[in-house]
Amino acid sequence: MSRKNGHGNALKSRFHDNFRRLFLSTALAVATLTAPAIQAQMPSSDGPPPLILVSIDGFRPDYLNRNVTPNLNALAATGVRAEAMHPSFPSKTFPNHYTLVTGLRPDRHGIVDNTMEDSAIPGVRFHYSNQAAVTDRRWWDQAEPIWVSAEKNGIRAATMFWPGSEAPIQGVRPSEWKVFNGKLPANDRVDTLLGWLDRPVAQRPGFLTLYFDNVDHAGHEFGPDARQTTAAAQLVDAAIGRLLQGLEKLHIDANLVIVADHGMAAISSARAIRFDLIAPAGSYRMVTSGPYAGIEAAAGQDGILAEAILKPHDHMQCWRKENIPPRLHYGKNPRVPSFFCLAELGWVIAPNAKAADRTIGGTHGYDNLAPEMEALFIASGPAFERQVVLAPFENVDVYPLMMKLLGLQALPSDGNLTPFARALKGARPALK
Ligand code: AMP
Ligand code: ZN
Ligand code: ZN
Repeated sequence: MSRKNGHGNALKSRFHDNFRRLFLSTALAVATLTAPAIQAQMPSSDGPPPLILVSIDGFRPDYLNRNVTPNLNALAATGVRAEAMHPSFPSKTFPNHYTLVTGLRPDRHGIVDNTMEDSAIPGVRFHYSNQAAVTDRRWWDQAEPIWVSAEKNGIRAATMFWPGSEAPIQGVRPSEWKVFNGKLPANDRVDTLLGWLDRPVAQRPGFLTLYFDNVDHAGHEFGPDARQTTAAAQLVDAAIGRLLQGLEKLHIDANLVIVADHGMAAISSARAIRFDLIAPAGSYRMVTSGPYAGIEAAAGQDGILAEAILKPHDHMQCWRKENIPPRLHYGKNPRVPSFFCLAELGWVIAPNAKAADRTIGGTHGYDNLAPEMEALFIASGPAFERQVVLAPFENVDVYPLMMKLLGLQALPSDGNLTPFARALKGARPALK
């Protein structure tokens, strides 16, 4: 089942042991769950089977070891799973969701943060809760997401939430899309997606997304190790079970790619870095703060700010954007602020005492290679081999995989298909 890859650490080997135990104990359930899918017949159609991209925001792969996710464990055991998937930097929601559907790292696709400014879009601050911003194609137009390519090639796309899906990117929206509503229950999201699939083949979407935020919300509020986070994983797993049952009822043998955008690390007010005690008041403006900080110097204050922050600090390192270490692939995009500070994992850069005191629960955004930032990857369906465990790979590779599953030529990206060599079934008519 498991293969060693030389990236081992305590977290991962615990994962392997637990996974093996879990695999044995759930083998029977797995057989029951998959039997109908094998018999299911695809309605006759020229195109490939529908591809459903599911994101469970903030789901770390080790959450599978908590014995509350039978559906995800069954899919992981019978289909393809990665030991881990590395997010792109910064390990935040909007940057990584756009990476997953473009194959580009945030510096290249332009969604460099959940909060951004751009002198080419003056007077506006991008934030995921700013409806005017998320629907403004100018923020998204530096890349072409898979649903735009699909629609351009005659494959209908339907998005049950996904960052970017509300904007007419390059003038194209998915055939079906929804205004984001974080309060919509997980099961309702599943039912909406199943409704889109319950159509004659000619009108059925060929590419769909499904998004769950419960696990991320609990992770932030209570931390990755809290029972509330485990309960959220259980709730989303049940929604996945509902999806599988619904597909079975519709006799649709879809390809499922289930991912997370990043992991989660525990934080504490005992690990807050007071930025206001480091940089002189009036010398800067913070664009973002938290696991990292993006900072602009106040007018005429560049030298003073640089002197205060570009020296060694406990639990934090700062750079001018052009000097951010190359392995983070970050800083070339004009939307990245001029100065950038990154906290050590589990530490938080706080603008003031109040923010420092409020530091509880969990967060993400850290170094994308930190084990705690690792993300879930499971794939299952007619295009995939069975019982394959992949060595860790980067999330930029998901885009070329999905384009292949749709039979489309991938646009130039930062990803490639190499990690999936053992995961994909051999020559299939649908896989050009
Ligand atoms: P963060 O965990 O800080 O990176 O941000 C995640 C937040 O983004 C969560 O509160 C989600 O509810 C929110 N979110 C996820 N998708 C969307 C979307 N398509 N539109 C608006 N907000 C979203
Ligand atoms: Zn997220
Ligand atoms: Zn989050």
